[in-house]
Amino acid sequence: MPAFGTPCWWQDGADLPVLPETPPAKTEILIIGAGYTGLSAAITAAREGAKVTVIDAMVPGQGASTRNGGMIGAHARVAVDAISAAFGRDTAIRLVNEAPKAYAFTRGLIADEGIDCDFIQTGRVVLDSTQKAFDQSRRLAEALHRLADYDMQVVEKADLGPHIATDAYKGGVYYPDHGGLHPRKFHDGLMRVALGAGVQVVQNCPVLSVEGPEGAFLAHTASGSIRADKVIFATNGYTGARFGHISRRIFALPSFIIATEKLDAGLIARLAPGRRMMVETRARHSYYRISPDGSRILFGGRAGMVPYGPVFAAMRLRETMVGIWPELKDAAISHSWRGNTGFTFQQMPHVGRHNGRHFAFGYSGSGVALAPYLGMKVAYQALGDQRGDTAYSETVPTTRIWYSGGRPLFLIAGEVWYRQVVDRWEGRQARR
Ligand SMILES: Cc1cc2nc3c(=O)[nH]c(=O)nc-3n(C[C@H](O)[C@H](O)[C@H](O)COP(=O)(O)OP(=O)(O)OC[C@H]3O[C@@H](n4cnc5c(N)ncnc54)[C@H](O)[C@@H]3O)c2cc1C
Repeated sequence: MPAFGTPCWWQDGADLPVLPETPPAKTEILIIGAGYTGLSAAITAAREGAKVTVIDAMVPGQGASTRNGGMIGAHARVAVDAISAAFGRDTAIRLVNEAPKAYAFTRGLIADEGIDCDFIQTGRVVLDSTQKAFDQSRRLAEALHRLADYDMQVVEKADLGPHIATDAYKGGVYYPDHGGLHPRKFHDGLMRVALGAGVQVVQNCPVLSVEGPEGAFLAHTASGSIRADKVIFATNGYTGARFGHISRRIFALPSFIIATEKLDAGLIARLAPGRRMMVETRARHSYYRISPDGSRILFGGRAGMVPYGPVFAAMRLRETMVGIWPELKDAAISHSWRGNTGFTFQQMPHVGRHNGRHFAFGYSGSGVALAPYLGMKVAYQALGDQRGDTAYSETVPTTRIWYSGGRPLFLIAGEVWYRQVVDRWEGRQARR
């Protein structure tokens, strides 16, 4: 029976304690949002002895943190030249050197806390549909090798066989130390650690406003108000329009995933012999992998830049998937869902502070390693501890005069532009 609208991950959840839906009257550190960022911040602050309350508008994790593809690793989100142009060369060098530390931190967190989340080091292959994209990937790999300690190998088209069986790509870059995990199990594990550290977590309780100066914040929710010395926003792609400066610097871009029904093991082994995490560089960016139990293909991507429903999105993703692997033309789809990725206008994550309010956001679709890491950083910053220092505080996010936060209506124009112009143009280049 297809489960359209619900991630396949949710069928594997742990039994966690029933959480309250009313906030306590007072806390030292209030964290808004209980995804990876919020829970990691909470664990860090609680372990430093702070009284911490995390409040989520939904059931914790039902933002992006249990909807994602579970691909994890350190990679430069944006080309080094682009980061240099936006933030200066020194910051760019610090950023590309810090990304592997973020991945090491999150792997360490999983190992040290004994979080059983099906982590497996499969490697990731980043695939180029056009010769131009492959040339750019080669240049990026050279730049990263010069600047930092990245374990990555350029793969020519003729050598793609051990990674993937398809004719769709001109080459790619292989990151052997990347891997995959089960996002829901990872989130459940973080929740268990946070509760064990004494963090109070409140669910189904949207924070409506935060007023007052640092040291005397008052946050209002529909079921009561809470006083806090410090406030951390960990709301990322679900921030909405309520929070002024912060809302105007983050917007939600939907990302969509489908899961196939269980497939024949021989077929999966033929299509994806390395069981890699597979990611594309084309604008109609797809990312796909084998499920942790080895039975399904999970295929994610930009079915649209606006929040299409699960049936329409499944149709578009399926079409893209069959374009890569025609053998899947008869595969049935069991799940289709979407979630919000949080983007800044510079497409770089940021840890910042405004009017005493701390925030970490903008992972731009790559937050499984970064969100726990920057959650830890923002907690230390809120505590005034220098372990909070990070190059991701130098990526100061800008806004646009026409964006007031909340619904990113400009993405409707983006949808038309990408669908009608960019995707078609790239499609023509790929066929050459
Ligand atoms: C479909 C999809 C696929 C992805 N795949 C990958 C991948 O394979 N690899 C990767 O690295 N990254 C991936 N990502 C990105 C990754 O999931 C996110 O970067 C990460 O989960 C962000 O965590 P977070 O805690 O910052 O935000 P979230 O998990 O989104 O949590 C934010 C929370 O804030 C809460 N909130 C918002 N406003 C309020 C309010 N006013 N009051 C109370 N609570 C509030 C929300 O309810 C939500 O629970 C993917 C994302 C999506 C959507």
